[in-house]
Amino acid sequence: MSNMIYDMVLLRLGGEITVKGKNRARFEKVLADHVRKALRAFDKIVVNQTYGRLYVELNAHPYEEVAKALRDVFGLVSFSPVKRADANLEAIQATALDVFRAHGKQPDTFKVTVKRGWKQFPHDSMEMNHLVASHVLRETPELKVNIRNPEVELRVDIQKDAAYVYCDTEAGAGGFPYGANGKGLLLLSGGIDSPVAGWLGMRKGLELEAVHFYSYPFTSEQAKEKVVTLAKRLLHFTGGKFKLHLVPFTEIQTRFAQSNQERLIITLMRRAMLRITEIIAARESAHAIVTGDSLGQVASQTLGSMNVIGRATELPILRPLVMMDKIEIIRIAERIGTYETSILPFEDCCTLFVPKSPSTNPNLSIVESVEAGIEDLDAMIQQAVKDTVTVVMKQETTKALPDGRGIEQKEAGSQTDEDRWF
Ligand code: ATP
Ligand code: MG
Repeated sequence: MSNMIYDMVLLRLGGEITVKGKNRARFEKVLADHVRKALRAFDKIVVNQTYGRLYVELNAHPYEEVAKALRDVFGLVSFSPVKRADANLEAIQATALDVFRAHGKQPDTFKVTVKRGWKQFPHDSMEMNHLVASHVLRETPELKVNIRNPEVELRVDIQKDAAYVYCDTEAGAGGFPYGANGKGLLLLSGGIDSPVAGWLGMRKGLELEAVHFYSYPFTSEQAKEKVVTLAKRLLHFTGGKFKLHLVPFTEIQTRFAQSNQERLIITLMRRAMLRITEIIAARESAHAIVTGDSLGQVASQTLGSMNVIGRATELPILRPLVMMDKIEIIRIAERIGTYETSILPFEDCCTLFVPKSPSTNPNLSIVESVEAGIEDLDAMIQQAVKDTVTVVMKQETTKALPDGRGIEQKEAGSQTDEDRWF
């Protein structure tokens, strides 16, 4: 597609946002901020609100480059490249033809839909549909109009200052603007699932910080690096910064291993993780815990296990993957660029102490009495929180000039964004 012809990009807010009635204005503002952040590498790009719609002024930047950055912005349901025309018939006809020709594959059928926001325009919408369509038809042999099921719909929005013409629409990431729905803590392991759970939470508008438990020297430095790389990938979707809390877990884990409750060790570890996370959550004003649990995947993710594990905290535990199949999870991991990192073969602290037959249906009172028998458990939990190291990651950006030079958004571990979500 020749994409230099466009002047602006029309942004559409998520359907979920529309539902929110009076919160709409707030969401729009948050979304506009995120769009600005996502496009900050582009010099002189302006995000505007006109006629109740959100627009990006391209200022000579190629549409394709900007679209690439917009695809990762949560809360955007779709967007369209738009060409501006003077608000008179001849200009609109000529622009409509340009926009139609810029559409990738030339279609066999089309229709024109004109909306007249400025009622003083001399022709009404019906007349305009006809006048614009016949101009395009004259210049395009073989093309036909199909009102019910056109391959391409050419839209014209006439306002007093100008007319806006477009025909391509691209799906956005959907969801809510990042951070619009409160803050949670993500339990981030080095596996495939938890980064996907994090992305889904972020897409739902949750601001997230990650918590990772490591058991040095049982787990290696590389295992920790792997989690840092995953966190940097999640940073990309925040548009700003991302915190990773690294919690030393060796002592607690070793103590559990000595408690002679081999079948319960995973349950005990998970509960201790939740307790520690709850303390960090209070400090960071987070109100939920997000995990990568998927029903039935392993012993700790049976309904019985989730029940007993979940009782260790009063915070809601959000499990975005709970009803998903592994294949669906992997597909998302590939799209968001975490899969390649997740499959690197470094051990996680939980895989180290996995017993041959972990309990799939632990008994809560037994688990509680084992915990009560470990005298200094509370103290160890407090100590782990004290020894937690927090890494704050920030996006670095270099400016792209309007001619497309120098475009670069730097995030270590980031990968291409070629894929679309849908
Ligand atoms: P993942 O692919 O996310 O590692 P998994 O299928 O391997 O998940 P488990 O190892 O049972 O499943 O972990 C379940 C969830 O517990 C993870 O998705 C993650 O949210 C959390 N978790 C596991 N290990 C850790 C860890 N070392 N640090 C932080 N959270 C963890
Ligand atoms: Mg795991």
